[in-house]
Amino acid sequence: MQRRKADKPSSDASAAKAARREEVQCAHCEEKPGTLTYKSYLDGKVEVCNECHDFLTKPYSRVVRFDPASTTQVCYGVPADPDQDIGLAIARGETVLIDTLSGPSLFELGDRFGGHRESADVILSPLDEDEIGAIRCIGLNYKNHAEECNLPIPTVPTLFLKGENALASPYPAETTVVPKAFVKDDAADYESEIAIIIGKHCKDVSEEEAMDYVFGITAANDISSRKAQFAQSQWCFSKSFDGACPVGPCVVLRSAIDDWAKVKVTGTHNGKVVQESTLDDLIFSIPKIVSVLSQGTTLRPGTLILTGTPAGVGWMQEPKNTLQDGDEFHVSVSHGVGTLVSKIEFEK
Ligand SMILES: [Zn+2]
Repeated sequence: MQRRKADKPSSDASAAKAARREEVQCAHCEEKPGTLTYKSYLDGKVEVCNECHDFLTKPYSRVVRFDPASTTQVCYGVPADPDQDIGLAIARGETVLIDTLSGPSLFELGDRFGGHRESADVILSPLDEDEIGAIRCIGLNYKNHAEECNLPIPTVPTLFLKGENALASPYPAETTVVPKAFVKDDAADYESEIAIIIGKHCKDVSEEEAMDYVFGITAANDISSRKAQFAQSQWCFSKSFDGACPVGPCVVLRSAIDDWAKVKVTGTHNGKVVQESTLDDLIFSIPKIVSVLSQGTTLRPGTLILTGTPAGVGWMQEPKNTLQDGDEFHVSVSHGVGTLVSKIEFEK
């Protein structure tokens, strides 16, 4: 071994360190011992090669819950291609590569260390049924939708709940089933929505504090059965059939969104754009919604809040544009969330 020229007394120590590094193996990729320089990781507990260090410390803005092709273990991970719309890709049968994270839940994601690149079999809703509790939804929250319904602009947010049984994963993990008791109504409808996920226990927060409790955003479809909805004054029943709340594909972290007014939602029915709006058309802003919903109420981590749907729902069209057996509906959300694909199926 050749020693570097010494000009300081500490050079013996650094030479010894250099010698040790030639023997060390990257704790992440376990490759190329001695051919690269190493950096400490996990507070100095391990040493990894430069290349792995760059990868492990690279910030990420979106995560996904998925079923890997190689095991039956549900994983969380970061899409390897930052620009891929993984919802569309998986529905088309294209390869979706995801770098797995070590953590067991959306709120304990861990890091990429010890993870590996996996091919996704299916994408799952970002949260499990057990994690969300009732799904909270805001009715009539876009000015353009209030105008389309000929309804006055509300002065307080209207809250309704969807049962956690309604939660569903994007197609092809699940299809959106219109129950046989309601097929004859020909009244199944879509509502493209931006959903927010609460990240920590939240109660009695002000509008100024509210965003600290938002973990991130995703896309949702508030599938509604209109005849059942308008047959009574409460909406919970008609909006809570099994699978009537597909959610996903990606969660974009709050920190990755700087201008919330520019977040955009687009609804596409069998390839035709039927809904399109940015959040600047909201009647009640996201901080306002979180603040109001937290008054006297603990919103636990995993609480899913659907923020409302813009103009263009099928029931308000002439003729009515209801969902039919075999239809495909896409809810696309900007900023990396991607496209939530749902395939409609009439229960036989
Ligand atoms: Zn390495």
